[in-house]
Amino acid sequence: MKKREILKDPNPVLRAETEDVLSFDGEIQELIDDMIYTMRNADGIGLAAPQVGVGKKIIVAEYETPEKSEDDFPLAVVVNPKIEAISEDDQEFMIEGCLSFPGTELYIKRPKKVKVTALDRWGKEYTLEDEKLLARVLQHEIDHLNGILMIDHIKVVKTLFIGNGSLGQPVLERITNDPQFELLAAFTTVDRPAGRSGELQPTMVAELAAKLNQKTFKIEDINSKEIINQIKSLNPELIVLADFSQIISKDLINLPKYGILNIHPSLLPKYRGPSPVVTAILNGDKKTGVSIIKLSDKIDAGDILSQLEIRIRPRENADQLKNRLAEFGADLLAETVPYYLADEIHPIKQIEEKVSYTKKFSKEDGKISNQPAERVELMVRALNPWPGVYTTVGDKKVFITKSHLDKEKKLVIEIVKPEGKREMTYKEYLAGNSPLTITE
Ligand code: ZN
Repeated sequence: MKKREILKDPNPVLRAETEDVLSFDGEIQELIDDMIYTMRNADGIGLAAPQVGVGKKIIVAEYETPEKSEDDFPLAVVVNPKIEAISEDDQEFMIEGCLSFPGTELYIKRPKKVKVTALDRWGKEYTLEDEKLLARVLQHEIDHLNGILMIDHIKVVKTLFIGNGSLGQPVLERITNDPQFELLAAFTTVDRPAGRSGELQPTMVAELAAKLNQKTFKIEDINSKEIINQIKSLNPELIVLADFSQIISKDLINLPKYGILNIHPSLLPKYRGPSPVVTAILNGDKKTGVSIIKLSDKIDAGDILSQLEIRIRPRENADQLKNRLAEFGADLLAETVPYYLADEIHPIKQIEEKVSYTKKFSKEDGKISNQPAERVELMVRALNPWPGVYTTVGDKKVFITKSHLDKEKKLVIEIVKPEGKREMTYKEYLAGNSPLTITE
């Protein structure tokens, strides 16, 4: 038994015709043993002969878990298979991977039930019938014998991305790398002066788009006639919008066939508006989430296509939580789109009575003025790095960038940044200063 090389897409052998097995000699037995060994070695649950470069109608498949799930099936060697029946009217989406597409997972719609006649490894005829995972694997592997790959089953949607900030980065990355999207271009705000030097700084999305070698348009006003015409000429079927500060006009919303999908980092209708992540932490919420909505002309008010709830970690700050929500948001988008394009999602209207709004925070919000320790701890996690949480000593501000509560719920300051100086531990700070007065 030896491990054979698994061919990766694109490789013409994966697209070539295969032949029936006519004799079950030693060479075929060796090939079958090698295929089983190669599949198990790669942690796969199915492998077809073309994937190891052999144009013969042979499949091996196996899924056995220690916990014995209902999807388990024993090792099957399937030679010269023929599909006798499939449930044309009973189809479902299921996530699929393929050893010829490492790292790619796609939601693919296929008939749920299948009946296959085939020969075993000695040439004896038998029947396989299933409506669980094996049914899926058989269809996927029989496709391989006909030169069909899983990407042939997905609808590729011509997509345009609009975004600026960190929430948009994983989403843009996903749209670039996931074969169900064809990214036409990314639109982001023009470079703006930043920091003390006032040097022009690209948006986070512009930076990532350049790294990914994607066509980028830097724009002032997304709703200007000129930009809308430009978008029209790119002919997108879908627009994905994340972390973008401008309101989108009806003209633009109505332009793509599938509308605009927006990733919002809260469990809508809770926390509409500009600061859902910061507000969730500041309010001491234990959970939050991410929503995919269909953009409407009222901010964050569109119908909900999907949502994912996550727990807020006890010491998580706003940046960390936002990054986590961004990753989950990118995953959720990729999982939602196939159902959405197949018209298998019933969008849910947001319940008006449950709507709440978040505000833009300002530097004043970061000022500590006699709040209880619990509140200050939340402020430090929510309002860092911006606008920052501070108390004043004389006429200078001292920012607290990290703290926690001890068992008595007293505030333990960990890291501070005195105005105009570097960040330092509180211990270092105390070497030359008196303790900060935080609470009454
Ligand atoms: Zn495959």
